[in-house]
Amino acid sequence: MDIIHLLPDSVANQIAAGEVVQRPASVIKELLENSIDAGATDIHIILREAGRELIQVIDNGKGMSPTDARMAFERHATSKIQQAVDLFALHTMGFRGEALASIVAVAEVEMRTRREEDETGVRLKMAGSKLESQESVACPKGTNLEVRNLFYNVPARRKFLKSNQTELSNIITELQHVALANPNVGFTLVHNDVQMLQLLSGSLKQRITQLFNKGISQQLLPLDVENDLVTIHGFIGQPSAARKKGALQFFFVNDRYMRHPYFHKAVLECYQDLIPEGSQPNYFIYLKVDPASIDVNIHPTKTEIKFENEPARWHILMAAVREALGKFNAVPTIDFDQADAPEITVLPSREESKHMTEPKVHYDPGYNPFRKTQADNWQSLYDDFLTLPSKVSEDQTEPDESEALGGLVPPTAPLSSRMNEELPLTEDKQQDLSPVGHFIQVANRYIATCSHNALLLFDQHRAHIAVLYDRYYQQMCNKQGISQQELFPEIVEIAAADVPVLEKILPELSYLGFELNNLGGGSYAIAGKPASLENQIDFHALLLQMIDAARDEVHGVSDALNRKLALRLAQAQAIRAGKKMCEEEMRQLVESLFDLKEHTYGPDGRLIAVSLSASDIENRF
Ligand code: ADP
Ligand code: MG
Repeated sequence: MDIIHLLPDSVANQIAAGEVVQRPASVIKELLENSIDAGATDIHIILREAGRELIQVIDNGKGMSPTDARMAFERHATSKIQQAVDLFALHTMGFRGEALASIVAVAEVEMRTRREEDETGVRLKMAGSKLESQESVACPKGTNLEVRNLFYNVPARRKFLKSNQTELSNIITELQHVALANPNVGFTLVHNDVQMLQLLSGSLKQRITQLFNKGISQQLLPLDVENDLVTIHGFIGQPSAARKKGALQFFFVNDRYMRHPYFHKAVLECYQDLIPEGSQPNYFIYLKVDPASIDVNIHPTKTEIKFENEPARWHILMAAVREALGKFNAVPTIDFDQADAPEITVLPSREESKHMTEPKVHYDPGYNPFRKTQADNWQSLYDDFLTLPSKVSEDQTEPDESEALGGLVPPTAPLSSRMNEELPLTEDKQQDLSPVGHFIQVANRYIATCSHNALLLFDQHRAHIAVLYDRYYQQMCNKQGISQQELFPEIVEIAAADVPVLEKILPELSYLGFELNNLGGGSYAIAGKPASLENQIDFHALLLQMIDAARDEVHGVSDALNRKLALRLAQAQAIRAGKKMCEEEMRQLVESLFDLKEHTYGPDGRLIAVSLSASDIENRF
């Protein structure tokens, strides 16, 4: 006897529903996305018992014809795509045609809907995938969907729901995502007859303020970069607004909320040293890309999105964030009366950056007000990395910066050098910008001096990183390091999985001055340490950071890894902001900096030096 048969639709839908509808918040997400796709500008949400009893979404979108209204509940029924190629040009949130079919498999649903052109609307009642009634009704234009008794026919699921508070907070999270992606749409949320939220349509900044708090708007730094690969706008939080818990962190791509651990890491890197360890910055970052270059066709409940050419976008994102932070930082570094002073622009203005395309194309390595010799290292590194294949797009789970230059970030330079072209520095271009004046420390952080025709300011910590980095990197290239022998070596424990990673980079670490003796069982004695400068360094932590860096490195030991390791050590050893320096120390530091090929941007891509030309100064008087 044959035993295989097709499952009835109601059973198949219920199985599918297990994937799409996990909790009331999933229903809210799907219904809100449908309303947005239908062009709604006003959306009302009504809940009872955190959605267990009732989830109702009322929109003023385009509505459905009676036939479409019936069809909408069939599995794989959608108006949004016709054929497979449409998947690569998606401009809608939905496309699977699964949501309504799934919801109706596990709840009682009533829908009223009317198109503008129809005189009467239609009301459908369904439960457990079965149509119970369909009739004409008078109703406003748009769609009104009530979902009652979620999981009434799946007791195990119903039992699995968490407390009302948890379910409600999940719902609000979904609403936040949709509301942040669509600031021009108004939303209200009523729970157990109490209005919890009213969001009026407005600008993104207004939406953020409405959703979070009024104070937040003062802490937002605008992001604005337009580029062939990706357009980035939105806001990042000032470093001072970073928090240990509950930071507001949102990425959107083509107005769809996404999680992106790799891009998240890029943003965090930009804040390194600007915020205390363990705290997190706020960000609201909106990426616009060609829909053909992303793949949203992953699991319906997942918010990770695959990008083509991810490392390049990663770099542009970092450059954009650094630019925004740089603009913000540039002003207070110069301690003049700010009342009506023109801003000292060290980075492109909004207008200028609008005209920017791929940084690579416009980078002019020949011009740099601080440069004595032409530096080409950023450009070639950037080119190198552009040609690397993207591993990350194959595998979303782990952020991986290894392909992207091992943490070295050149594009800031291209963006900024473009800006520099616009600055009235022409007469300075011919000038030698080597320091000639005395060295004065400002706020225990910056070194001020002058050249023949300009005031020069250096960030002492960043300048020192650049100098040390160069030294450590040379040591690695020459395969010779100096270490300080320890009388009583510190013993460190390395996780079993990391032992092979560490073993692989032992020679590289030795060029940096680490002498490690394997004691077995994952224990190592640090018999020699890099000749230490002033800072108290937690070598154990540093070693773990280096192992992290090496673990990410898919190519094994490479130049990129060497650079990364050298950078980590330089960051740990460099003189801190806040440290008093005497004139001689400052002179030595600036001179060593000028011995480097590149002295405007550090190996981490951050700005080291700012010049204020005679004409800039003139403008201030
Ligand atoms: P998808 O959104 O993936 O197409 P759904 O099951 O969510 O699948 O919806 C099926 C179809 O029902 C949609 O393609 C759309 O045509 C229609 N629809 C759903 N919700 C609405 C709505 N609020 N307003 C207008 N049409 C809707
Ligand atoms: Mg949908």
